[in-house]
Amino acid sequence: MIDEFVEKELIPLEPEFLTKPSTNLLPVFEEKRKMVKQMELWAPNHPKEYGGMELDLLEHALVSESLGRSPLGHYIFGCQAPDAGNIEILHQFGSDEQKAKYLGPLVDGKIRSCFSMTEVELPGSNPVMMDTTAVKDGDDYVINGQKWYTSSADGAEFAIVMVVTNPEAGRYLQASMIIVPTDTPGFNLVRNIPVMGHAGEDYFSHAEILYQNCRVPQSNLLGPEGHGFVIAQERLGPGRIHHCMRWIGICNRAFDLMVARARDRIIAPDRKLAAKQIIQSWIAECAADIQGARLMVLHAAWMIENVGKKEARKEISLIKFVVANVMQKVIDRSLQVHGGLGMTDDTILAFYYRHERAARIYDGADEVHKISVAKRILKEYEGKRVR
Ligand SMILES: Cc1cc2nc3c(=O)[nH]c(=O)nc-3n(C[C@H](O)[C@H](O)[C@H](O)COP(=O)(O)OP(=O)(O)OC[C@H]3O[C@@H](n4cnc5c(N)ncnc54)[C@H](O)[C@@H]3O)c2cc1C
Repeated sequence: MIDEFVEKELIPLEPEFLTKPSTNLLPVFEEKRKMVKQMELWAPNHPKEYGGMELDLLEHALVSESLGRSPLGHYIFGCQAPDAGNIEILHQFGSDEQKAKYLGPLVDGKIRSCFSMTEVELPGSNPVMMDTTAVKDGDDYVINGQKWYTSSADGAEFAIVMVVTNPEAGRYLQASMIIVPTDTPGFNLVRNIPVMGHAGEDYFSHAEILYQNCRVPQSNLLGPEGHGFVIAQERLGPGRIHHCMRWIGICNRAFDLMVARARDRIIAPDRKLAAKQIIQSWIAECAADIQGARLMVLHAAWMIENVGKKEARKEISLIKFVVANVMQKVIDRSLQVHGGLGMTDDTILAFYYRHERAARIYDGADEVHKISVAKRILKEYEGKRVR
């Protein structure tokens, strides 16, 4: 059902999505979301008590792969980042009041949210280095700092902001997460950052935010004070695998386009592109890479479900850099096979090429995950006798 819906209802929207502001399409998006709700496929991975399907990670991997075939898939089915991660932590750590105010409407798709951690001047790869502070004043916190890459802040109802609340505590206990409604005075959306030439808008954007004496009640603290990184760990593990599941869908779409183009494109009066061995080699390599990456993702999902998030850290780091690189290779090969057409927005490939380059940077750069995996493996070998 999902494959069919993506094919019939979402892919035909892409030409307009690629050439006009996505805000033009908001009424159509709403219509499609209603259809998904009627089909009872809404919010596949979110809790049943809030109107989701509560699929486990392995089931969601298959759903997400289908949705990833279009950049609109996850948004239309109500399981898009960064809301998906925020839903998980609100469900796990939110107070009853926070759940009533934010969680219900968020799962229902009535509002959107964003996650504001990365700062302009300090390394996102080492987020314990953080300048944004929240200082207690009466019953409030007063937040000051500069963040960027707060994805989807434009049009969001609230941000979950990572701030230093306890500068005297140990490194990993200095920060907290605080819910900040975006209409709070002092929440200043400076700009949607142009990414690969496109600033985007609404859900499809990444903002720079200046928090200037931004005052929120202390009851907006999410979880215990000083537990920002503990909660971030809860958010980042599943967040990473969610990206990987979606990327498999992108691989499949780019691969299908590559094979179809190779079969159709006439390059000599009696020859199609697919007759060339170099293209056949790309097809075979990409098929093998996608299959390997897909099985790794499913295995990591199984590990998280059956062994636990903590025990699956190595598998999560492995898929994060492997799948990101496989996806980029497949998009690149497919674009190359399309020649000049690949560079245009007449296919989805250039969009994916522009926007998915970031996959090797966000939620932990490749290098950081490689180092983390290598350290774990080296430790596993401690005291091991190998002949
Ligand atoms: C499209 C996009 C969306 C994003 N969305 C969000 C969001 O919604 N919310 C949010 O808070 N953030 C978001 N981010 C920010 C993202 O998490 C950071 O960009 C990422 O953590 C890297 O941090 P940095 O950009 O400061 O790079 P740096 O930390 O400065 O790292 C730069 C490079 O240095 C190398 N490097 C870093 N550390 C090491 C190391 N230990 N060993 C070896 N090499 C290393 C890596 O190659 C890395 O790419 C987004 C980023 C992008 C591009």
